[in-house]
Amino acid sequence: MTDPIDVSASRLVIDLDALTRNWQALAGMVRPAECAGVVKADAYGLGATRVAQSLAHAGCRRFFVANPDGAAALRTVLDDAARVYVLNGLIAATGDLAAHNLVPVLNDLGQVVRWADAARRLERRLGAVLHIDTGMARLGLPPAETARLAASPELLAPLDLHFVMSHLSCASEPEEAENHRQLKLFRHAMRSFPGASASLANSSGIFLGEAWHHDLVRPGYAVYGGNPTPSGANPMEPVIRLKARIIQVREVPAGTRVGYSGTYTTKRATRLATLPVGYADGYPRALGNLAHAFIGDRAVPVVGHISMDLMTLDIGGLPEARAHVGTWVDLIRGRTMLDDLAGRAGTIGYELLTSLGARYARQWLGGTCG
Ligand SMILES: *Cc1c(COP(=O)(O)O)cnc(C)c1O
Repeated sequence: MTDPIDVSASRLVIDLDALTRNWQALAGMVRPAECAGVVKADAYGLGATRVAQSLAHAGCRRFFVANPDGAAALRTVLDDAARVYVLNGLIAATGDLAAHNLVPVLNDLGQVVRWADAARRLERRLGAVLHIDTGMARLGLPPAETARLAASPELLAPLDLHFVMSHLSCASEPEEAENHRQLKLFRHAMRSFPGASASLANSSGIFLGEAWHHDLVRPGYAVYGGNPTPSGANPMEPVIRLKARIIQVREVPAGTRVGYSGTYTTKRATRLATLPVGYADGYPRALGNLAHAFIGDRAVPVVGHISMDLMTLDIGGLPEARAHVGTWVDLIRGRTMLDDLAGRAGTIGYELLTSLGARYARQWLGGTCG
């Protein structure tokens, strides 16, 4: 008899020490510019409060979230001097942001006016970031609004402008002329805000070169171990490991069809292992017959379609003693698998990463907090 396997044993292991080293490496690359930490989407699924505590301990003083709701929780684990910026802008009541010591990224002229009004009402200078759009057409002041603000600098007078930022649309494609065009537009816009600090680069932007660093960089993905230079080797340390235990093993003859629609047929007698992980757990369905997993140092192919809660591996190449019910299998690990699997699934590592955190028991290794 084998012990019952706890299906919830599948887990996402997060190495906070590796994550911290990644941030330190980026911070070292850009010095004397400052390095922030982007912890939106619950730190790309890895747990914003844990991640922020680790980064704060390493010296990170500025954090970016997308929305104000997650930001308030983050505030409780950071000291008052740490800055928490809300990328999606002044979308909450202004009083709530001010009360939680959150700094909005002001994305249009209306938000500038409202935040300045709030500062007058509260009779104190409120921190602010100004976001200039240089080529995303997503958030940030469009060129006409930037020009209007430049002509009326008194609009910013009640505010403490921490920096002016923009965001790159093609930073992971270093050959793209658009990177130079946005840099030029950003530099030009900065002339309208004399003395203001500037921030342009995300993870990949850091690797475009020093010209893109300005005063503050805003990496997210690279801190979490994703490859910021997709056309080359990954310079970052792996941070996550996704693992699950085999729940069933079967011996099958040649000619056995595996999974829905029988998209895989065994070519020889072999052994199949079933894992309690499927597309409902964030493992992309598109990876059926296209991915591999690891048992120890041995790669084993994922065969047949990925089901909602299950997937199948061909473990015929392994001695029986190495793969049985209860054996741990690594689905994502190392420097390349996150980006590689995402690419095979027709998506990007960012999407794969953020699809995991909410679905697995997360286990944090290292870090400074228990
Ligand atoms: C998400 C985001 C970042 C971080 O991007 P990465 O590619 O994960 O480094 C930086 N700046 C803005 C405005 C963002 O939305």
